Amino acid sequence: MKISFHGADRDVTGSCHLVECAGKRILIDCGLYQGSRELDQENAGPFGFDAASIDYVLLTHAHLDHCGRLPLLAKRGFRGEIITTSASRELARLVMLDAAHLLEEDARHRARRGGHGGANGDTTASFYSTLDALNCLDNFGRTATYAQALDVTAGVKATFIDAGHILGSASIFLQLAEESHSTSVLFSGDLGNTGRVLLRSPATPPRADNVVMETTYGDRLHKSLGPSIDELFEAITETFKRGGNVIIPTFALERAQELLYFLKQGISTGRLAESTQVFLDSPMAISATEIFRRHPECFEPATAKLFQGSHDPFDLPGLHFTRESAESVALNSIRGGAIIMAGSGMCTGGRVRHHLQHNLDRDNSAIVFVGYAAAGTLARRIIDGAKQVRIFGEEIAVRARIYTINGFSAHADQAELLAWQSQTGAKRTFLVHGEQDSMTKFAAHLGDTHVEMPMQNQSFEL
Ligand code: ZN
Repeated sequence: MKISFHGADRDVTGSCHLVECAGKRILIDCGLYQGSRELDQENAGPFGFDAASIDYVLLTHAHLDHCGRLPLLAKRGFRGEIITTSASRELARLVMLDAAHLLEEDARHRARRGGHGGANGDTTASFYSTLDALNCLDNFGRTATYAQALDVTAGVKATFIDAGHILGSASIFLQLAEESHSTSVLFSGDLGNTGRVLLRSPATPPRADNVVMETTYGDRLHKSLGPSIDELFEAITETFKRGGNVIIPTFALERAQELLYFLKQGISTGRLAESTQVFLDSPMAISATEIFRRHPECFEPATAKLFQGSHDPFDLPGLHFTRESAESVALNSIRGGAIIMAGSGMCTGGRVRHHLQHNLDRDNSAIVFVGYAAAGTLARRIIDGAKQVRIFGEEIAVRARIYTINGFSAHADQAELLAWQSQTGAKRTFLVHGEQDSMTKFAAHLGDTHVEMPMQNQSFEL
């Protein structure tokens, strides 16, 4: 039995881990690297294993950095079965199709500009297409139910455990047996923050021999939610007083719904004006809410009712969905009084870059960051205080007020990660999905366990 690491190693994105047991090869996640342009090459590069040799993929959740390379895996010959929860399956479909669309759009941009050469030096091709993403959907097989063990194949049992991170997200507990040897590995996936408004808190993990865990926020504690909501409302009211717009780079899944929930709260308690205009500039968002409505099993019953009742976060008086790109372009002429939410959250792609282009250099506007920004991303450069950034080939001065509010995080913080790890009682702990500095600080707090911080393509006997 063997485990090897092929992504998110001493880094946050590109999650991909391979388990070999009883003659089968099982991948846990197959995510995209997100960050600077150079990563396109890494995404298009080799996996570190033969795609055609993989028998199963177990998917922890539908974020791009966990499912975004699945279409490429299928394109390179993977014909096995992808197993995940039913909500993740629907969300992954949306996320992969959107990613394929963005990749194609990017490739067209490059071709029009005569290009610096994309992945593989090809100026016109994206490394996978919408057709590849559609083909990959055929590989989705059985769906997993939280807390019910599933026989993946002889010698491999998988239990998906609610990770409280996004809709459908799971930690995956593998019980492995081969000849006379048996062991267990628990993959944390991305772990949620407790006390969120829509999702349940992460479930108590089972005891496991080995743990592979994320360390995104392994070095810090989150601010609590209350002050973060106050900060958000203040940012909005102050910006409107100055006559500018509030741009919120955000994912269309989960974070967008949560923010709308808070905005609705702000309006109903009189802290925000009834007339507040909110533009959700994301064609994915309506589809995402429909998916939310179809999966009451992911919520406490009381929360599931919200979507049917008076607290439906999509039932805001001044909420506009802008599906068409012409509608999105029209937002560029709004000079003030609008909250514009658009993806991607790390500003690596998507419509938010147009809104940044039109608002970053205006000192009466504000950019409000509410999520994690990986090193090398445009979001991170702005957060770190860049005076000037390049967007669509144009140098743009950063004059807008920048807010970074971290209490909305969808990730567990250091204390929550430590508590989770200690409940597993693991003898060996592999740290992944974190920047090296955060990982090292986290490792120093771990108690009685053997810690590994794997390098890319490193493997270990289980
Ligand atoms: Zn995630």
